[in-house]
This record gives sequence, structure tokens and C-alpha cells, in this order.
Amino acid sequence: VWQEALAYIQGKVPKQVYDTWFTPVHLERIEDSTAQIAVPNKFFGDWLSQHYGPLLEEAVSTARGGGETAVSFVVFNRLAAKPIDPTVIEQARAVAGSKPKRGIQLNPKYTFKNFVVGAGNQFAHAACMAVAEQPAKAYNPLFIYGGVGLGKTHLLNAIANHVAERTDLRIAYLTTEQFTNEVINSIRYDKMMDLRKRYRHIDMLMIDDIQFLAGKERTQEEFFHTFNSLYEAHKQIVLSSDRFPKDMPDIEERLRSRFEWGLIADLQPPDVETRIAILRKKSEDEGVRLPEDVIQFLSTTMKSNIRELEGSLVRLGAYASLTGQVITLDMARNVLRDLIGDKKKIVSLEDIQEVVSTWFHVRIADLKSRRRSKTLVHPRQIAMYLCRELTDASYPEIGRHFGGKDHTTIIHACRQIGKARDTDSSLQATLDGLKDKILRG
Ligand code: ADP
Ligand code: MG
Repeated sequence: VWQEALAYIQGKVPKQVYDTWFTPVHLERIEDSTAQIAVPNKFFGDWLSQHYGPLLEEAVSTARGGGETAVSFVVFNRLAAKPIDPTVIEQARAVAGSKPKRGIQLNPKYTFKNFVVGAGNQFAHAACMAVAEQPAKAYNPLFIYGGVGLGKTHLLNAIANHVAERTDLRIAYLTTEQFTNEVINSIRYDKMMDLRKRYRHIDMLMIDDIQFLAGKERTQEEFFHTFNSLYEAHKQIVLSSDRFPKDMPDIEERLRSRFEWGLIADLQPPDVETRIAILRKKSEDEGVRLPEDVIQFLSTTMKSNIRELEGSLVRLGAYASLTGQVITLDMARNVLRDLIGDKKKIVSLEDIQEVVSTWFHVRIADLKSRRRSKTLVHPRQIAMYLCRELTDASYPEIGRHFGGKDHTTIIHACRQIGKARDTDSSLQATLDGLKDKILRG
């Protein structure tokens, strides 16, 4: 019965939900018409009952061939619980271990010294410097936002490296994914108190890519408490995100407003002078000789993303040393063809819908529907706009892909977004981020 019930549930919830909430539980027994589900701890049971109680009842009833079945929860024997995953212990050590200064994820190569300052990142750079010099005294929290490959991770590491070199402050630097995993594992293994205790002893908490908290209620809740206790204790908090707080619809309001309590600094794509300066600096550091015309070529073709700029340099350097040739403009064109080539043809309308739906946490079916709620209209218009910009599809063709909408609807959407993007830099960043995901998969 339980196997069938599980199969039923598997068909109804996303895999991640299934793995997190259904693999750790089992059916203890069925008595009269009540199924006892064994769970690792009380919190787990409460949560499961609140969110998936009806689904569990439905699943067990169906597996038993009909007839109402209620579910109740019992906490199973601790000893029988799965052992703690060793990576969790590793992470725990990294957070509060004997050498707490250097979390395992810190990248020593990302420093202020090798961060090239230009028009697009001047402000964020200054804000990060101020925080690194005076943690918890300058800006708290510091919230850095900017598109892919513009230096968020680099700056966060630079702060951490700077502080670690000069002070004994305990720093926790982690990605949102790592934080989420810690929360999930703490819930599973009933270690919530340990987790909270660990974070209470941190002097500086840095979380990268906080946009991934979207839709993760339980992690948001835990983060909310961590944030509050650190903030009240005057500890520094630094966060990065690929978008502005108000553009994170699936983050609870109370968290979003906290993100705005301190300073918000943005990273804009580098202007051409900065791109040239970055190329010069990196080629020197890497010992790659770049002729002037190649620098010009790279800095005018790789516009939106410093990671790409860097990647093309590394690739050129590797090619040159492997073939024993000096770098020329022709070689650059040839070696980097796939990075700069026309990407229009390979993108499908489905790709775009998929990326947009993931980004905004809406379902593709809702993008195609006629529902007019605000949380749907905006992503839908953005998807339509991107279909027009990134593919050769006609307006009517795009309309057909959005549940048979009239071509005037598509034209309207493209105008709306096109107009808004000129004045709204956070929309611009969103579009850049989406394009990057769509074009690079
Ligand atoms: P993000 O986290 O915003 O996606 P990263 O911090 O990973 O971006 O940056 C991508 C790459 O570009 C990294 O290798 C980083 O060192 C480099 N980079 C970004 N901005 C600069 C800059 N201003 N000067 C030098 N390197 C930079
Ligand atoms: Mg990053």
C-alpha cells in the first residue's frame, strides 16, 4: 500500500519536494481507517500535515482501493533515523569550526586588489570597501545586486578576505543553496537548535545569490530568524542577488523589507573603458600577450558580462600556448566564433517560456493562460517580448505559442516592456539575466 501511495504522491509533487518530505517518512500501520505515518520529528510531522496532509490521505485512500483514510503522525525511533550526512557536518565545521575565519568556500583569488573599478561598479565597490573596513558600522545589511557575471561573488569574497586578514571576526560565507541544504537537513535530523546556535555565534554572515530563497518558505523563515538575531546583535550581514528586492515576488514581504534596511548597491554592465581595463589587467595577470586590435575586438563584442570577457581571454591564451602561436585578431575571431556568433536561430519559443517560468516561479500553463493577475501579466509580457527579440517568430506565431492569443496582444506586450526597459534599470537587469540564461542554457 505504501509503495503505491508513494508512487501516487510522486506523480503529484515536484521531485525536490518528494525527496525532501516523503523519502524520510514511512507508513507505520493502518488501524481502522487511520494510517499512521512515521516522521523524524514533531516539526516535520506538523509541516507535512499542514502542507501535504490532504494529499497523503488521498494517496493512501487511493492505494487501498478507495474508502476514506485519515492520516496521523508518529515520531519514529531516533535510533532508526538515518545517520547525519557527512557533508552537513563539513558545512557545520566551515561555519563554526576551529578555523572559522576561513570558510571552505572562500576564494582567495577574489580580492579588492584585482577588482577593476569602473563606472558600472564604482558604487558597489565603495560600499563593499566600507563594510570590509568597518563591519557592522558602515552599512547593515549591505545588499549587492547585479546581473550574471558582473562581480557579485567576487566582491563578497573580497570583503571576506579583507576582514579575515585583518581581524578575528568569525565569517560565514555561503551560497543560498548551501544555507537551504542546512535548513532542510536540520529539519530532517531534528537539529534545528544546533543550526540556530551556530549562526548566533557568527560575526559576519554573507549569503550569495539570495534570489534563490524564492519560494522556499521554510528556509526563508529560518533565514528571517537568523537575520533578526544577528542584526539585533549588531553583526554584519551582506547579501547578493541578481535582482532588486522588490522584484523578488516569491520572497516574503518581511524579508524583502529587511533587505532594504541598509544599503542597496547595484552592479551595472561595464562600459567600454572598464572592459578594456579589465582585459589589460587580466591578460597581464595571466601572462597573455594581447595585441591592441584584439583588445578592441574583445571589448566591443563581449559587452554584457565580465565572466564571458574573462572566459574568452583564458580560451585565447590556452589556444595560443597549445599551438605555439601568437594571438592575432584572426585567431580571436576564429577561436571565439561560437561565443560571438549569431545566436538567434538556436533559441526556441519553448526555451524562452521555460526560462521565464522558472525565473518568476510561475507555471508555463499560467504564462499561456488568460489570467490577468499582476504576478502573471508581467512575466507573460516579458516572455512575449523575449520571444520577439531572440527569435525570428512573427507576432501571430508567438500568439499561437501563448495559448492562441491575438497578435495585437503580443505587439502590446512588446511595446510595454520595450518602453519600460528604457527607464527601469532593474527591469533591464532582469532582461539581461533572462537572456543570458536563455542563450547559454
Ligand atoms: P557574479 O557572482 O555577479 O555572477 P562573479 O563575481 O562570479 O559574478 O564574476 C565573474 C568573473 O568576472 C569572476 O571571475 C570575477 O573575478 C570577474 N570580475 C567581475 N567583475 C570584475 C572586475 N570589476 N574586475 C575584475 N574581475 C572581475
Ligand atoms: Mg556569483
